[in-house]
Amino acid sequence: MIELGEAQRFVMERVAALEPREWPLERARGCVVATHVVAREAIPGFANSSMDGYALRSSDATTPGARLRVVDSIHAGDVSALRLEAGQAMRIMTGAPLPDGADCVCMVEETVVEGDVVTIARTLGPGDYVRQIGEDTEVGQALFAPGDELNPTAIGVLAGQGFRTVLVHPRPRVGVLSTGNELVSADDPLGPGQIRDLNRPLLLALLEETGCTPVDLGTAKDTAAEITSALSRAVEDCDAVISTGGVSVGDVDFVKVVIGELGAGDARWMQVAIKPAKPFAFGVVGPRRTPLFGLPGNPVSTRVSFEMFVRPALRVMAGHLIRERITLDAVLDDALEPPTDAKVHLVHVTVGWGADGVLHVTDAMRRGSHLLNAIAGANAIATVAPDTACAAGDRVRVMILDADSLGVSR
Ligand code: AMP
Ligand code: MG
Repeated sequence: MIELGEAQRFVMERVAALEPREWPLERARGCVVATHVVAREAIPGFANSSMDGYALRSSDATTPGARLRVVDSIHAGDVSALRLEAGQAMRIMTGAPLPDGADCVCMVEETVVEGDVVTIARTLGPGDYVRQIGEDTEVGQALFAPGDELNPTAIGVLAGQGFRTVLVHPRPRVGVLSTGNELVSADDPLGPGQIRDLNRPLLLALLEETGCTPVDLGTAKDTAAEITSALSRAVEDCDAVISTGGVSVGDVDFVKVVIGELGAGDARWMQVAIKPAKPFAFGVVGPRRTPLFGLPGNPVSTRVSFEMFVRPALRVMAGHLIRERITLDAVLDDALEPPTDAKVHLVHVTVGWGADGVLHVTDAMRRGSHLLNAIAGANAIATVAPDTACAAGDRVRVMILDADSLGVSR
């Protein structure tokens, strides 16, 4: 058996960010910028009103109660043809350009209008309620750097600059192959000894959650020929390939053999000192050095193996600087059973903020690599090593799978 860290290093040393590509802005959310992006337009591009109100000269409003003649009305998108003179005001809407001659705006709530005369109920200074040129963004200002993930706000900022495309690392296209003679899909009746293929939908969904483009490669029978043919085609077409099943020590566990052959010297079959998900195979295959992950077939093992090996590697390929999920310390409400097998146990748990403001492990799911439904409600994975103190009240390290779920305090 090898340590988890060694297995992870074997993978991470063999993956790199995908070649950058110009990508349409409307499809770039979650992508990682591959260049320095600099502002080419000032925002605001012109001085404009931040309120619906009246534009005026602040020198006309040094005492409350100034009476000014309203000479024009300016909507957003309009420009007044007039120059505002002393003793005058212009009706102005939010976002409309400040007219020449004006230097401030009085919000409508602080005015009284009678005919074409407006009374300004307060004093005003230069610049009041005016959005100045370049206040948010100046031309030439650095906006994004390599490694920055484009969140919705970033997409808005880029759109505000008139960009249609942005240079990003593409989303990895990742193929998923299930292997096993026993597998049938939802359309088929279950024959004796047969089970539904649930790993493939599970992995395709995990890939979507990771921001990748999932590619469904179907299923393969437990023959070296069928697995070789499916995987060698897949590594040509995809940026990375995941298979499940066939990496253990069964008589027809051919996936590990095929990955070894296709990886030709740069592949490894590992027994990792974790539970679940001990067996794992990985290699880089073909001229494009496509990462090929062989995950164990038990569904909880597949899920854990994805978290430990696949997700961090795909994050690197997508250009992310942060590869890991967020990990936090959480107090155990109940004792956890410590490992007695020299492995690090990765236990699905529920965590939540307590009234004490501290994160608590409120529930630990039944353990068993075949018990997927048992972990369906988990929002974190606790790391429990042989030397981890895990009595009630002890703190353990948890990897958060669903950060949104932490918004609810218990
Ligand atoms: P294997 O890793 O191929 O030895 O499979 C280990 C266990 O996981 C066996 O009980 C398999 O039937 C089960 N298994 C393998 N692949 C899948 C799959 N795609 N969906 C659900 N269970 C699977
Ligand atoms: Mg199998």
